[in-house]
Amino acid sequence: MLQQTVVATVIPYFCKFLMAYPRIQDLAAANVEDVCGLWAGLGYYARARNLHKCAQAVAARGGVFPASVEALMELPGIGPYTARAVGAIAFGLPVLPVDGNIERVTARIFALAAPKAALGARAADLFHDPAAHAAPGDYAQALFDLGATVCTPKSPDCPACPWRPHCAAHAQGIAASLPQKSRKPGKPHRTGTVYALLDDSGDVLLLRRPPHGLLGGMLALPESPPAAAAWSDAGTVDHIFTHFTLTLSVQAYAARRPGIIPVIENGYAVGTDLANLTDFAAHGVRYITLTHNGHNAIGDAAIPLPHYDDPPSLYGGLSDFGQDVVARMNDLGILVDISHTAKTTMLQAVARSRVPVFASHSCVRALCDHKRNLDDEQLDALGAAGGVIHITIVSNFLRPRARTADVSVADIADHIDYVVNRIGIDHVGIGTDFDGGGEVRDFRNIAQAPNLTAELVRRGYSHDHIAKIWGGNFLRLLRAAEAAKA
Ligand code: SF4
Repeated sequence: MLQQTVVATVIPYFCKFLMAYPRIQDLAAANVEDVCGLWAGLGYYARARNLHKCAQAVAARGGVFPASVEALMELPGIGPYTARAVGAIAFGLPVLPVDGNIERVTARIFALAAPKAALGARAADLFHDPAAHAAPGDYAQALFDLGATVCTPKSPDCPACPWRPHCAAHAQGIAASLPQKSRKPGKPHRTGTVYALLDDSGDVLLLRRPPHGLLGGMLALPESPPAAAAWSDAGTVDHIFTHFTLTLSVQAYAARRPGIIPVIENGYAVGTDLANLTDFAAHGVRYITLTHNGHNAIGDAAIPLPHYDDPPSLYGGLSDFGQDVVARMNDLGILVDISHTAKTTMLQAVARSRVPVFASHSCVRALCDHKRNLDDEQLDALGAAGGVIHITIVSNFLRPRARTADVSVADIADHIDYVVNRIGIDHVGIGTDFDGGGEVRDFRNIAQAPNLTAELVRRGYSHDHIAKIWGGNFLRLLRAAEAAKA
């Protein structure tokens, strides 16, 4: 802990570590991220990770430290200086750990203008005193303290120094000029950019850095944009590292907190028991797609499945049980999703439901003749009942037999335009179906959603209209479902 850090700073951290990890085995068993968390503020996090690794090595030896300098140096994070300090202080070994304090005292006692590297050898001359050999730990710590509190770098307090009678530098009046400083080259300067993505509660997105290298394993702001957004300049941060200085430009964006709504795609999960709906509602489910491909106990699907021996129609729309399911979903505040249902099922669900129904991921059949899309009669019924169709971005729902590369956000906007022109801006949204093959060439993931927004802007949609398309209409339906609960 004391490497490059003064004792007064380290003491509270040392106490925290002893409280958290009273035994070496406790530190060894700790999560390294927790260890680095306790270390936060001390810097040089490689020390924290080495401390943790060292504890694991010692714990593997039964919690006993080796008692020789050579064996201590085999432990992670322990170099010659630390091995000598532990050897002298903990085991009374006749060795001298030479740190900056001892180098400075040595240079002054002998009035040495020698390079720093030569001072360690001369420090050993002081150590040859029998009294020093008899108590190497006390001797080392006495020199540490002498250097830190009396023989300080800039203003040595010679009148208070017990070694003053033997000090050549004091006698020559040159104490403050020693040891001579080597001219250091200037630190290189680096620059970079980080991205601060905040949500509406003020939380900031942080990523964990790779385990090795600068600030290895620590949480940090991303160095590339974590999302497509209108980033704005939030100023710069300067930081001085040991070997370089750094200026970071901070780009910031405040995003709204994303919401995740539990839903069920396929009423097959309901089975034949309405009580399941109560359970689903209690777990937060807010819409259920009545069918998927293939008929179920609720009703006929748009696409029967021959390998399940599905006939073209089982019930002519909703089954009797399906009628009850729709009514019970209304009672529980669960929206009725008619994507995937047969046209007959859809129209009967519209008539049966007390709450506007919803097509979570379908397109316009007039533009693309696919069984999963809604024709004009269905759109009219949906609109008249106050419902919403979410245009999906599955390529062959947008254009007949099209592949992803053939389709763009312009095709999605064509379907939105059609719905808006036929039943109004309050009845359309977007249902990507990313988990079901939804993608077009310029909208493959949510980071590319701004491409669609840009297309809508280009077509003259206002901010308010785009807000309705991007979720506003769906939120209206969710509120309607909540308000209609029995
Ligand atoms: S006399 Fe002065 S220069 Fe010499 S060791 Fe003591 S404090 Fe340092």
